Amino acid sequence: MKFNPSMRQITIREALLQAGRDIGDIEARMLLQHVLNVSQAYLIVHCEQALTADQARSFRLLTGRRTHGEPVAYLTGRREFYSLDFTVTPAVLIPRPETELMVDLALAQIPPGLSCKILDLGTGSGAIALCIAKHRPVAEVTAVDFSADAVAIARTNAKQLNVGNVRILEADWFNGLAGEKFNLIVSNPPYVAAGDSHLTQGDLRFEPRMALTAGGEGLDCLRSIIASAPAHLVAGGVLLLEHGYDQAEICRQLLSEAGFGDVFSHPDLAGIMRVSGGSLIVS
Ligand code: GLN
Repeated sequence: MKFNPSMRQITIREALLQAGRDIGDIEARMLLQHVLNVSQAYLIVHCEQALTADQARSFRLLTGRRTHGEPVAYLTGRREFYSLDFTVTPAVLIPRPETELMVDLALAQIPPGLSCKILDLGTGSGAIALCIAKHRPVAEVTAVDFSADAVAIARTNAKQLNVGNVRILEADWFNGLAGEKFNLIVSNPPYVAAGDSHLTQGDLRFEPRMALTAGGEGLDCLRSIIASAPAHLVAGGVLLLEHGYDQAEICRQLLSEAGFGDVFSHPDLAGIMRVSGGSLIVS
């Protein structure tokens, strides 16, 4: 039989080198780790190991899909957020690094050991709610999402991350929480303006539109949460909202009008005002 180069087995090192040219070294490594179900260290130590034909085929397939723009997190089904490992599918937004700020600000509001009630609206994968619950095991966390698929994923994550102090409900914002009051409400709602050009670029093209956009200015959900939150907060309770790069001022204004005091905005690591909040004025 004549030697056919395409039939030669490819090693881990060669596979990474080839794919790295198309999608970059880091993503190539993440996809190969996923296909082989091994650690980064394994790839380094065993770089001369040959891939089986199946492994090589799977890796080529995923690399190709990545080349066409599918987010790595959807291809591997995983994304790290606040040092925890989350399951993600195209039914939920991929947790963003800038959203870790929300977790930091929420934790700063809750002294460890204090029993209190916390609500996360539009939880998606459960990223914010589960990180808070994990770091404040005494708190009772409620997470809601309108999407049944998102609720299922958030529940999977709660189980995988071994978080017991959370209940995850399918609901439209506050519907389903009649009469309940919380010490802290957090939300990273859809806030991208309907015509925003980012929606046709990068990962956003593959993410659920329902989780991203909220009316012409992107303010519909923020407005509705701010309007309804006072009825669900104890006196002095805090509301924290993630919002778009140009929405801090309007959010602070809406918060003041709704009866919140100590209204503030906080920048993310890129220096963009990303989270605004306030505490319900005791009347
Ligand atoms: N920050 C996200 C983005 O534009 C949007 C998230 C959201 O709408 N909540 O990439």
